[in-house]
Amino acid sequence: MMRRSRYNLSSEEQEAKVKRRNTLIEKKEKVYVEDFNGYCDNTDHPLFSIKVNKDKKFAACYYCSKLWIYREK
Ligand SMILES: [Zn+2]
Repeated sequence: MMRRSRYNLSSEEQEAKVKRRNTLIEKKEKVYVEDFNGYCDNTDHPLFSIKVNKDKKFAACYYCSKLWIYREK
């Protein structure tokens, strides 16, 4: 009996999908800073202000998802 719909991914397909997503996340640019108050340095999109300090541990650019992460001195 074949009841597998085309939306039901096999376990291998599912695994490949997860792997692809993890690669995407890893590819995302991350910057570690002690204190930062400025703009995303990606000039492909409009200015987006980024602020990171000990009270605000991380900030992501709205446009390109570049991530600034606070790093303890
Ligand atoms: Zn950006």
